[in-house]
Amino acid sequence: LKDKYDIIIIGSGGAGMSAALEAKEKGLNPVIFEKMPVVGGNTNKSSSGMNASETKFQKEQNIKDSNDLFYEESLKGGHGTNNKEMLRFFVDNSAGAIEWLDSIGIRLNNITITGGMNEKRTHRPEDGSAVGQYLVKGLVKNLQDKGIPLFVSADVKEITEQDGKINGVKVLFNQADEKNITSNAVIVTTGGFGANMDMITEVRPDLAGYVTTNQIGSTGDGIKMIEKVGGTTVDMDQIQVHPTVQQEKSYLIGEAVRGEGALLISSEGKRFTNEMNTRDKVTAAINTLPEKAAILIFDSGVKTRVKAIEQYEKMGFVIQGDTIEALAKEINVPAAQLQTSLDTWNSAVKNKKDAEFGRTTGMDNDLSGAPYYAIKIGPGIHYTMGGVVINTNTEVLNKEGTAIPGLFAAGEVAGGLHGQNRIGGNSVAEIIIFGRQAGIKAAEFVASQ
Ligand code: ADP
Repeated sequence: LKDKYDIIIIGSGGAGMSAALEAKEKGLNPVIFEKMPVVGGNTNKSSSGMNASETKFQKEQNIKDSNDLFYEESLKGGHGTNNKEMLRFFVDNSAGAIEWLDSIGIRLNNITITGGMNEKRTHRPEDGSAVGQYLVKGLVKNLQDKGIPLFVSADVKEITEQDGKINGVKVLFNQADEKNITSNAVIVTTGGFGANMDMITEVRPDLAGYVTTNQIGSTGDGIKMIEKVGGTTVDMDQIQVHPTVQQEKSYLIGEAVRGEGALLISSEGKRFTNEMNTRDKVTAAINTLPEKAAILIFDSGVKTRVKAIEQYEKMGFVIQGDTIEALAKEINVPAAQLQTSLDTWNSAVKNKKDAEFGRTTGMDNDLSGAPYYAIKIGPGIHYTMGGVVINTNTEVLNKEGTAIPGLFAAGEVAGGLHGQNRIGGNSVAEIIIFGRQAGIKAAEFVASQ
């Protein structure tokens, strides 16, 4: 540990690690401080994939996507409330981010779809496994190869300033040693506040009692520290509730399960919504059911295509039946009704028309391959769309809209990009795209000093 670095990065999720790699690439000396004993934050837990358009992998696979369509669908998903400049920058830099990852040994070439999109643009690892752990592992390897220091159990308590200039941080190491470390720039990549129920219920009392999928370190520290040095926030009450969370373990069941064909059914064995709607709509549909919970139903084909299901199985979430009747018995729903629901669905897939709920995606394959499976789910707090205000240079802005010199932020800590509803797969893209940008812009700032 040194007393001084060129750039201090707070938080070791995907945004922080991407920023560090770019800052190093620019010839600077960054350090990462992570408050938890483990690296990777919520990024570790992300499952669906990374959205990007006009990528080389899409082109290879003849997927006709465009940056404009990606923009439009993200804007529609956010009910038109997204920060449009940030969104434009985001879609236009998404393919570059996929290429950059590929160039450092992180290959996301298995492409699926999530709610709210009409083209396949959710990029996953080759074997279809969850994106988060693969990404964190790959980024950590690069940090090590490039000799970038990362300290865990390094809890940043304060961003410090001198004569109105950001000049470092106060860090508590191992819950014991407090030190002032100085730098010419600070990048805040501390993630969101999805594990801080006080902060959540302050802005959204209606969410009291919900489970959260977040790691316990997602407590909004970065937002509070930035506010103390003059930053401001946007959309703080826009909290994403994910529709498919295993309740007992607060474990997220990735959207790729539906994207690859799964259905949602009620305790009566009936479908009740377009499963591929955006997360806010699917959650609202589940909350209209008397039990405020539902069941994901899929077949062996979906299980093969979504590698993450092996993990759900290991955790004991997956219920199996050799026939639909047997499964119905296991999950206590009327067998005849479940059979009818699946028959109706399979003909909808065949005719490419879901007359019941208008689903148009995740219909490449029907559900006819025994054995059949079920996972019981309900809604859970998942993501905080709001956060600190930044611009496309990732500079933190004050209330007047002016950049605070030397202070940058990226990833879930920042608000605006997603507006009122985030599309699944857009946050992994955000942390890479804006994380890189933060590393580049902070390095330029330091060089200009
Ligand atoms: P993103 O997806 O935006 O990269 P993540 O949740 O993946 O966000 O990562 C944020 C990381 O920041 C987490 O590992 C979290 O533990 C860490 N963190 C949060 N607050 C602090 C803090 N005060 N000091 C150091 N690290 C922090």
